[in-house]
Amino acid sequence: MSNNPLLAADALPDFAAIRPEHVVPAVEAAIADHADAMKALAARPGDPALLADKDAADVAISRVWGVVSHLVMVATTPELREAHGQAQPLIDAHFSAVGQDKALYQALKAIDPLALPENERRALTLALQDFELSGVALDGEAAQDFAANRIEMGRLSTEFSNAVLDATEAWTLEITDEARLAGIPEADRAGMRAAAQRAGKEGWLITLHAPSVMAVLSHAEDRELREEAYRAWNTRASDQGPNAGQFDNGPRIAEILSRRGKAALALGFEDPVAVSLAAKMARDGAEVDAFLSSLGAAARPQAARDLASLAEFARDELNIADLRPWDVGFASERMRRKLHDLDTSEIRRYLPLPRVTEALFGLVRELFGVEFRAAQGVPVWHPDVRYFTLHRDGHEVASLYADFFAREGKRGGAWMDSARPRQHGVTPVAYLVTNFAPPVGDAPAYITHNDMVTLFHEMGHCLHHLLGEVDLPSIGGIAGVEWDAVELPSQFLENFAWEPATLKAASAHEESGDPLPDAMITRMLGAQKFLGAMGLVRQAEFALFDLRLHRAAGGDNAPDYRDVLAQVRSEVAVIDYPEWHRFPTSFSHIFAGGYAAGYYSYLWAERLSADAYAAFEEGDVSRAELGERFRAEVLSRGGTRPAIENFTAFRGREPENEPLLESWGIAA
Ligand SMILES: [Zn+2]
Repeated sequence: MSNNPLLAADALPDFAAIRPEHVVPAVEAAIADHADAMKALAARPGDPALLADKDAADVAISRVWGVVSHLVMVATTPELREAHGQAQPLIDAHFSAVGQDKALYQALKAIDPLALPENERRALTLALQDFELSGVALDGEAAQDFAANRIEMGRLSTEFSNAVLDATEAWTLEITDEARLAGIPEADRAGMRAAAQRAGKEGWLITLHAPSVMAVLSHAEDRELREEAYRAWNTRASDQGPNAGQFDNGPRIAEILSRRGKAALALGFEDPVAVSLAAKMARDGAEVDAFLSSLGAAARPQAARDLASLAEFARDELNIADLRPWDVGFASERMRRKLHDLDTSEIRRYLPLPRVTEALFGLVRELFGVEFRAAQGVPVWHPDVRYFTLHRDGHEVASLYADFFAREGKRGGAWMDSARPRQHGVTPVAYLVTNFAPPVGDAPAYITHNDMVTLFHEMGHCLHHLLGEVDLPSIGGIAGVEWDAVELPSQFLENFAWEPATLKAASAHEESGDPLPDAMITRMLGAQKFLGAMGLVRQAEFALFDLRLHRAAGGDNAPDYRDVLAQVRSEVAVIDYPEWHRFPTSFSHIFAGGYAAGYYSYLWAERLSADAYAAFEEGDVSRAELGERFRAEVLSRGGTRPAIENFTAFRGREPENEPLLESWGIAA
């Protein structure tokens, strides 16, 4: 065991030395150590040093499990996946037991908060809240009921997402006459042909996997084809549509809501919204409802005008006399092309990755006084991975692994994660992972503007972790930050990827070396906000539906989800949806994912980031001064104080809606 690299005491993991056979023994050893540590902590009730010691034990186990989880995402093999699959249930069972450890909870609860420094007092509050929300304070029959209810909720969530998957697989449409695919791009048709081949069929197969059905709804000129696909897509796992009743999630929604209501009451809350918001930035359901309703009210008139002009465009240019929901995606795409003709592949020829990263590093230097330096000789998991150290005021403050390119064995998408938290005398380290198309030959990689925005987004998360100045890992960096505020730094930094000056600095055409022309930048900015009001009322509809449904779930008779949806739509929607439309039965985010009574978080965090960025546009304070204030009041604070205090300390007031509305193209 002593030569297991996952258990080595090196400052940074020796990735190349880690083999799949190291995983299970290392995880078992780490769990045993952590369990011993928790037992020892539980025997010291009221000791003010408990928090720091618990953090140290948590860091030790997450060091092992963090590396394994990271490798399975970025450099997996069948053997590693297998080892990870064996270790995962051990980790889950262990942390579930720790979350229910009454002795540990009582030991922490016995600490006198007044004996703690302010940071640790906050960490204690959050730790106790975590325990209490998992029901650890319940006794006897109440505890048993709560645990049984939780298991049932887990089963229902799994059934819900399985029904969505089954319904997604159950519908396909075979096309033998290519003329029906008119308008659909060649790349999407190739996917449909491949799907047909896999199914042993001739021609093309349209499926309900998102790329396939979205290609039809956005591009297919055949209106009947669009309607058929739209109906199948929007009735998945419901009592309507081509497979009506076969996978119906309607009864599951009712049972999930009633069980969530029951769990909330057991914990002493009014409804599931109150449970969800207990650990979030939003104060209560009424505040969130008012926020979403005001966005809906502000956006709806313009959304209605946008829809009217879309209908006019469809009538004049597309020969569609009465615009129906299955025409909206198609007509929008055609109108967008006409008004803001954007050749994304041409923009890509202007964006070499090395230059984009230089522009990003330059921006971080300008805003936060932080210098990135490439470092060599640090062990990595693939030769493409870069390692940077970050310097501020002449000191090395943090470092970053950057893994930019898509490849075999690496999961798609983009994300950041903590590789090491900040502790006394230890600098924080982050992983930044993206899936850009790799370079070809000797030329640098060129990325799309979408990729560039993604890179800025993930860098925002990384800086939140790396520029933290808190030595207690449970409330340092991104830890302990309320869930509905955690996207503030990432979305904030995204804004800079749209600034003409940043775009100029980031661009150099692959042949001429010229920066992006002004006319192209203007078109990019126009396309960004195209039909924004319609998009915003749609987001408000999802979020209000989730919120109101869960607010109503506290009582004995939960309302019918269809009634709640109809009410919300009557307030914010502009599209006249058919009676059979049933998006909630496939709304896995809230019925099978972590977004229950939390879908509003997307818009909530966006209000913060848009408003924070607006300070830079007002222009009365220098960017360097504002950047320093953002670093000091937001990035450096981690979870040491409520996010609203970070925000008001930076902005000098509570957040306002106008910058968010403006960013969706809605004029005040
Ligand atoms: Zn994010």
